[in-house]
Amino acid sequence: MSVPFLNFNKLHHEDFRNRIKERINHIVDTNAFIEGEFNTKFEQEFAKMQKAKHCLLVANGTDALEISLKVYGIKPGDCVGVPGITFYASAEAVVNVGAKPVWIDVDPKTGLICPRSLERMHKQHQIKAVMPVHIYGLPAPMREVNQYCYENGIHIVEDAAQAQGAKYHNGEPIGSFDNLTTFSFYPTKNLSAFGDAGCILTQSDELAHKIVVERNHGRGDDHAMGRNSRCDHIQAAVLHLKLSEIEAQNEARKNVAKLYHENLADTPLGLLPQEYIELSSWHLYPVQLSSLEERKNLSNFLKEHQIGHTPFYERSMAQEGGLKGHSGESQVADNFAGHTLCLPMNPFVSSEDIEYVGNAVRKFFS
Ligand SMILES: *Cc1c(COP(=O)(O)O)cnc(C)c1O
Repeated sequence: MSVPFLNFNKLHHEDFRNRIKERINHIVDTNAFIEGEFNTKFEQEFAKMQKAKHCLLVANGTDALEISLKVYGIKPGDCVGVPGITFYASAEAVVNVGAKPVWIDVDPKTGLICPRSLERMHKQHQIKAVMPVHIYGLPAPMREVNQYCYENGIHIVEDAAQAQGAKYHNGEPIGSFDNLTTFSFYPTKNLSAFGDAGCILTQSDELAHKIVVERNHGRGDDHAMGRNSRCDHIQAAVLHLKLSEIEAQNEARKNVAKLYHENLADTPLGLLPQEYIELSSWHLYPVQLSSLEERKNLSNFLKEHQIGHTPFYERSMAQEGGLKGHSGESQVADNFAGHTLCLPMNPFVSSEDIEYVGNAVRKFFS
């Protein structure tokens, strides 16, 4: 038996393949390759689903972060708070606009941004913007982050690349606050394209206009310098077609997480707090080990049993070779990164798969 980490064969099932081929044929027949009807349809329906006023498709999730920082007026030399546990691209976007990342420490149980650390780092570095990351699909503590940032004039760019389908603690969908919220539709994300794509959600007409200008070479504004970050029509057609299945798939992920939690409760693995079962989009299913060595040994053991797994994340941002020399707090994040392993998570993990994984974990610890 083997349990794959991802399952593209089931995601792109036969009926889906037939329907997407029809759409692609239609795009080829009508020569509508860039920003076509499916771009508009996706933007309208996705905005409605996430309770945002506007959704603007862009070329990928990293562009979505960079463009968000730019339209908020972040300038070279400005300090931007980035949590120590995230994918490299969050920090990369800050560096790419010439700003300075300041590491914000994280919660030791979840890896989510710590509001107290944000406050301390703002007092030291006068942060202009902060980028809470809904890491693994868990909602960041936005009530505290929003309150502090609104009082102190700090812009918020929420990196929701892993959080399509997640809900804030108030029960509302990710993207429904008056912040810029970015998504990636990279092929491994919950909602995924046939290549690269991303989007930005906003409640502001003014920011939406700036994003539309920025993503298409500054067109629509006489003096603007933009870039090319358009989303291809084929990617939009894929995303729009997948919207009809995404809620059921996210429900299936939640059920997988629930079964893992039950099955693994009697093992020494550190599991995420129960409250996140309902709130997370369960992009990934992380567990905590007691040491770096234990993680390595469990990884080898799972490999022998053909169970897909990945050490997300191997290092905190402050420990990344390409990001050395920046300021901030990273003690909890450094420790958290060394101890995390992600188990197979996708909508098609079965209860038999979970039993097999659970038994392997118990065998490892016995
Ligand atoms: C995937 C991801 C990104 C980057 O998205 P791309 O589409 O690959 O540019 C940014 N932040 C986080 C947290 C991600 O998981």
